[in-house]
Amino acid sequence: MERYDLIVLGAGSGGLTVAAGGAAVGARVALLEKHRMGGDCLNYGCVPSKAFLRAAKVAHTLRTASTYGINAGTTAARHDLKPVMEYVRSARARVAPHDSVERFTGLGVDVHLCAGRSSTVIACLRRCSSSVAGRLGRSSARPLPVSDLR
Ligand SMILES: Cc1cc2nc3c(=O)[nH]c(=O)nc-3n(C[C@H](O)[C@H](O)[C@H](O)COP(=O)(O)OP(=O)(O)OC[C@H]3O[C@@H](n4cnc5c(N)ncnc54)[C@H](O)[C@@H]3O)c2cc1C
Repeated sequence: MERYDLIVLGAGSGGLTVAAGGAAVGARVALLEKHRMGGDCLNYGCVPSKAFLRAAKVAHTLRTASTYGINAGTTAARHDLKPVMEYVRSARARVAPHDSVERFTGLGVDVHLCAGRSSTVIACLRRCSSSVAGRLGRSSARPLPVSDLR
């Protein structure tokens, strides 16, 4: 069984940041994700919502173009959901490589696409070596009690 200095549950914005930071200071890091790399921000939150907002802003601009003396034509205000969804997915696809398994593997993180369970996590944790713990800003690191992971 692999032993790690740091086990990160969840590859959302928080987990990805912690995993990259841990690997950067030399910790042996495992990152466990049970659903999708990128978590809420990439898949449901920040990125898709900003893409929707951008599409809505463009539609509004076209609809109100005449206010600014611009003739946007008669088809300008048409906005079907399907192509908008394609744009939203493409926006997500452009960002996805930053949060990908490939990128984090390249940073030295062991990525596991599975649900982290307390028993597995406890078994895989080891004491950080003093040099790694020091770089993480602690004098020592102890395995988390099982109760903290429930
Ligand atoms: C509509 C919307 C718009 C938003 N817009 C913005 C914005 O513009 N800017 C901004 O800063 N924030 C925004 N947010 C907030 C942002 O999405 C969250 O702050 C961010 O996703 C939180 O990241 P996280 O890593 O804490 O959690 P999450 O993104 O929820 O990630 C947690 C991950 O952990 C995984 N996981 C959970 N349990 C386990 C387990 N036991 N084992 C393995 N994996 C597990 C989940 O599958 C998930 O991938 C928005 C949110 C929403 C809903």
